[in-house]
Amino acid sequence: MNITEIAQKDRNAVLHPFTQLKDFATGKLGDPTIVETGKGIRIQDAYGKQLIDGFAGLYCVNVGYGRTEVADAISRQAHRLAYYHSYAAHTTDELAILSDRLVKMAPGKMSKVFYGMSGSDANETQAKLVWYYNNLRGKPTKKKIISRERGYHGCSVVSGSMTGMSFYHDHMDLPFSQIVHTGVPHYYWGATPGETEIEFSARRAEELDELIERLGPDNVGAFIAEPVLGTGGITPPPKGYWQAIQPVLRKHDVLLIADEVITGFGRTGSMFGSLHYGIEPDLITVAKGLTSAYFPLSAAIVGEKVYQVMEDGADRVGAFSHGYTYSGHPIGAAAANAVLDIVETEDLPGNAREVGAFFQDLMKEKFSQLPIVGEVRGVGLMGAVEFVADRDHRKRFDPALKVGARISKAARDRGLIARAMPHGDILGFAPPLVATKSEIEEIVAIAEAAVRAVLDELVREKS
Ligand code: PMP
Repeated sequence: MNITEIAQKDRNAVLHPFTQLKDFATGKLGDPTIVETGKGIRIQDAYGKQLIDGFAGLYCVNVGYGRTEVADAISRQAHRLAYYHSYAAHTTDELAILSDRLVKMAPGKMSKVFYGMSGSDANETQAKLVWYYNNLRGKPTKKKIISRERGYHGCSVVSGSMTGMSFYHDHMDLPFSQIVHTGVPHYYWGATPGETEIEFSARRAEELDELIERLGPDNVGAFIAEPVLGTGGITPPPKGYWQAIQPVLRKHDVLLIADEVITGFGRTGSMFGSLHYGIEPDLITVAKGLTSAYFPLSAAIVGEKVYQVMEDGADRVGAFSHGYTYSGHPIGAAAANAVLDIVETEDLPGNAREVGAFFQDLMKEKFSQLPIVGEVRGVGLMGAVEFVADRDHRKRFDPALKVGARISKAARDRGLIARAMPHGDILGFAPPLVATKSEIEEIVAIAEAAVRAVLDELVREKS
């Protein structure tokens, strides 16, 4: 089938996520990009055009594209046993091995692993676990879950409600009433003049404390957060943030869910974001990097404290009545084991730390001084450049100028995928964790050319 026919079929029948439907249907957005192959940090489209994937798909292809070890593991498992479920104490060797491995490598005192297919459904499971835990221990009102403005946790009913972005709620009857939002720890935009990072973190913790008091500690079950804010702008926490937040949660007997969907398996330079920032979660969500997206697989990792209550309550409530047809899918487990072998043998957290430090320095060197750059930030192999109209007064560009989207497009035209993020004009990077220093140089050089091109355009438009 030729490219035009494929594009036509796509336009006729695919409902694309995060796409302006009318603009796509009428051709204003152009043809869909038909992605055909991938190798290392690059993908190639149907016309043979290569692009550097500076975002690892959606921060997920951590081991890079085209890893035959993973493809072979998937193929072997599909030939041997394509599927069996994990209901009623059934298992497979790959699933048992993976689970034991995850419990041992995860931070904190973890006990069991429950599997899903996406970060969204894993966070949906986390909410049910919080409710189940509090029902079983006789605290039936302790149900509200606090998440943060600009946090991203998925787009299903509960996870989409946890997501603190109004465009995920508007016109879709969200957020669900048990989810409440608190302030985002975004120092650049949130701090008052002269406030230090530590003071700002303490203020966010006090706000959380007040919110829990206002809702009533007996009504608050959990707090969910990403160790590093991801889709909300790739923003590492300000100094002292997690150290200030956790005592508040402990004081009110509120569970901590670490959403490690992006930060899990090395992206920050540590195996988990929780290890990087000294977070001691009760529940951990992982997805993306677990299989490097070679197979859809997510997990809710359950800490001992929560699990023990579940086991103790089993005689009263019967079987744990939650699970998907594909929970613990053996092909997903085989993919995850093969990916984790690579993560460990190639020390991808170490690479993210070392190449990541080089990346962070290079971004600062190339972008910090540009007149439209407000902030350059990141950790490990995740980073962002935020563009502003006025650096001195921290003023955003008029959204109608679409500065972020234009820079992202200019990068794309030059062969680099770097993502325009919501909440301002932000160019985000999250390359595969196998990226080398020379590949990082290439990424930053293209991004710099794109930024300078749009900067020139803006100057011309103004004059
Ligand atoms: N949590 C976080 C932190 C994420 O970044 C994402 C996806 N970007 C999700 C949850 C949801 O994962 P999925 O898209 O697989 O449902």
